[in-house]
Amino acid sequence: MGSSTRYGIAEFMSNDEYGRYPISKARNPFVCGLTGTSYTALDVVQRENYLARAIGKRLGFTNEGSEWDRVVALFSLNTIDYIPLTHAIHRLSGIVSPVNPAASALELEQQLRSSSSAALFTCVPLLQVALKAAKAAGIPRERIFILPMDKDDHNHQVVTIHDLLKEGESLPELKPLKWIKGQGERQVAYLCFSSGTSGLPLAAFESYYRQQHNIDSQVLLGLLPFSHAYGLVIMAHVAPYRGDEVIVLPGFRLQTFLTAIQRFKIEQLNIVPPILVQMVANHQKCSEFDLSSVRFVYTGGAPLGSETIDSLSALYPHWHLGQVYGMTETAVVITSTSESDILHGSSGSLLPSMKAKIIDIKGNEVITPETPGELLVQGPSVTLGYLNNEKATGETFIWDNSGRWIRTGDEAIVRKSPNGHEHFVIIDRIKELIKVKGMQVAPAELEAHLLTHPFVSDCAVIQTHHKRSGEVPKAFVVRSKESSGRSETETARLICEHVEKHKSKYKWLAGGVEFLDVIPKNPTGKILRRHLREKERLRIKAD
Ligand code: AMP
Repeated sequence: MGSSTRYGIAEFMSNDEYGRYPISKARNPFVCGLTGTSYTALDVVQRENYLARAIGKRLGFTNEGSEWDRVVALFSLNTIDYIPLTHAIHRLSGIVSPVNPAASALELEQQLRSSSSAALFTCVPLLQVALKAAKAAGIPRERIFILPMDKDDHNHQVVTIHDLLKEGESLPELKPLKWIKGQGERQVAYLCFSSGTSGLPLAAFESYYRQQHNIDSQVLLGLLPFSHAYGLVIMAHVAPYRGDEVIVLPGFRLQTFLTAIQRFKIEQLNIVPPILVQMVANHQKCSEFDLSSVRFVYTGGAPLGSETIDSLSALYPHWHLGQVYGMTETAVVITSTSESDILHGSSGSLLPSMKAKIIDIKGNEVITPETPGELLVQGPSVTLGYLNNEKATGETFIWDNSGRWIRTGDEAIVRKSPNGHEHFVIIDRIKELIKVKGMQVAPAELEAHLLTHPFVSDCAVIQTHHKRSGEVPKAFVVRSKESSGRSETETARLICEHVEKHKSKYKWLAGGVEFLDVIPKNPTGKILRRHLREKERLRIKAD
């Protein structure tokens, strides 16, 4: 059913074809879900070319030398120019480093520094944060550019994509990219930030290798942040290749989401579980919209609860409600359910060209179904490694006779579907990572930040259940002497404010602060998170 293809981005830049379609027959690839603005596939290819020429000239990018000198940070809400811009940067053999639009100035600065970004593209709603971070990271104004979101986005004394397009039109054609065989598997296309299995966020580098599936083109909703590997890979690679039309929305609001589905007759939704939870909670409002065009709904990024699956199946019996499972480091989907092979609660079967195995705590392969262990994955789209972090790269991969396996940090079992196919059911997360509405929060990052507060002498952060967000961070804190004389409530409030001041909203301590006399640790000083997670589970049960 599937096939895999190796390609460089140059294949999207041809004037004859867009993905697998003749360019004259391709749908408009990206349509603004708010205004309806769009460009034909031919226009998009031309715009990508003009952008590449202007960016190349302004930033002095040539195809020679190292691609690490051509890293461009992209800190923007989703717009119809986002993906074409990534293609333009790839046309220059550059690397795109997408940044979560929820990032604070400090977080953006850190990402600009660790990726050594040469330039920054942003949008007007994020411009102030972008300017502050760029200044701190030493990126001059003339290397900051704006992706327009509406007609008023011209007057900010910052060059916009419109200006670059005008400039590029009169610049000479770029020389063709001359890639040698196999280069697409090795050359870095994206630097996507992920916290891996433990510790602070790391930059995982993803190659150009992607899997493609020969299924019909669709009208998709481009709602997931393009800055996250899940949204990025589907919208920048799978959708253009398949010839899909992507209706782009800058963020989630129930009203605009439902309006876009109805107006553009969306056929496929790629979303995260909290959106479906909201749909169930607001089913009355949803019933005021015509959602009958929707046929496929894929959720991923976090587990989807069985109660939500049952409610949605009753509300929308015509939907194929599928789950995909994957991670940034595997760029991105590893398993997916299919319409013809349903198994309740499963994350589906392996995608073509992906291999998986489960190992027990001693590292031995588990071969019996229904026996849990850590899932390991092998495949051509798996990250090449973590930037400037050989230790993390070394800990994340295991080698055996059949090559390199990535540790997912997820606990899974294999279960046979009624058709006899092997499915993977994700039962727990072994790694530290917390997923808030599908976005990553690294406990180590919050712990390091909490320790900078004078009232915190020790701390540990874990996830706790949250009805709307799935999971949220909760801090266990040992108070310092400096906090004596303050009530627990006041101390907790001040600690929460310390996070709110410096960190993205989705990282805030929505699970609250609980005070302990001591943080449980093993003899080597490693936090015993399982103890704390169990404690939290019992507290929730008792409530
Ligand atoms: P990210 O790199 O942000 O995509 O996060 C990847 C992690 O999200 C995985 O390692 C899992 O822990 C979790 N995850 C992704 N998809 C699913 C799913 N369908 N079910 C359960 N957990 C998931």
